[in-house]
Amino acid sequence: MIVIRLQSAASKAKVNHVVQVLSKEGLTPEVMSSASETILLLQSASASLVDFVSKMAGVEQVAEVQSAYPLVSRELKPHGSQVKVGSVIVGGGVPVVIAGPCSVESELQMHKSAEEAKRSGAHLLRGGAYKPRTNPYSFQGLGVEGLRLLQEAGKSVGLPVVTEVMSPTTVDVVSEYADMLQIGTRNMANFDLLRAVGRSGRPVLLKRGMAATVDEWLQAAEYIVSAGNPNVILCERGIRSFDPSTRNILDLAGAVLAKQKSHLPVMVDPSHGTGVVSLIGPMSLAAIAAGVDGISLEMHPNPQEAFSDGDQALTPEQLHEIVRQVMGMSTQTAAQSGLVSVPSHG
Ligand code: PEP
Ligand code: MN
Repeated sequence: MIVIRLQSAASKAKVNHVVQVLSKEGLTPEVMSSASETILLLQSASASLVDFVSKMAGVEQVAEVQSAYPLVSRELKPHGSQVKVGSVIVGGGVPVVIAGPCSVESELQMHKSAEEAKRSGAHLLRGGAYKPRTNPYSFQGLGVEGLRLLQEAGKSVGLPVVTEVMSPTTVDVVSEYADMLQIGTRNMANFDLLRAVGRSGRPVLLKRGMAATVDEWLQAAEYIVSAGNPNVILCERGIRSFDPSTRNILDLAGAVLAKQKSHLPVMVDPSHGTGVVSLIGPMSLAAIAAGVDGISLEMHPNPQEAFSDGDQALTPEQLHEIVRQVMGMSTQTAAQSGLVSVPSHG
């Protein structure tokens, strides 16, 4: 594929001019515009045309990308990309911590959770208002009321909020309240939902499907970016295995591979990835040491009373200790030491 990136400030006229030049050659590019840039995609083009277009006004980059996911491929942005969530930058070299309960349950529970998340040093507050439960009789979330409680709690301590969106029909309402939309593991291949969050423009935390390959996960991210939303963060949350000792297998190699293959920031969720409280701290440290951009941790003010995922919920004290250790770790991560490098091919 040929990817033509136009400068963020490129005028409509400049974009149209490039499109005209291509159509004179019988080529019809796919045009993708976001707030930050316009991208034209072509299946192929001659070397002389590529050369000509690369010198046109407003054109920032013309790249030939050999990948099934050209827009999220590392080949396009070898130095990686950053995503801003509220005022928080993910992918900027400082690990970002998301913390909060599995579900939004009440005003008091969210108020306490927000205070503890803030005190721990976490950067973003989480809490599910729409819960994708395996059993239809389990707590399904508070819906719009949950969104309101989450937003209010985040505002009261100054933390941007992230919450899951399960259906294309609720993308608008969730976007009204949330600073980042989460796509859960069960919806990673819900292509209509991916397109809908792609159109929303809100940052998206894309969790890996529990039985998805890394390439399938990256193609899911491509759906969102190709729908006009470059603000995607990948999140490894564990994959299914034969061994019930842990809830899932946290695939840290897969997380690092995703970072090598894609320019998108990558986070890790050791709460769902292990389902075992005593493993969350060690796996958080391992993830950051391996060079990922942040972690997502479930914490409940009183885990025994949690409406969902109480078994894996950290207490506030446990959260404080993990964030202290993670943020105190040497900033000389694998990413910065060059261990997370771009493969020269493939
Ligand atoms: C969650 O973050 O609460 C959640 C449901 O995660 P996952 O989709 O990874 O199971
Ligand atoms: Mn959960």
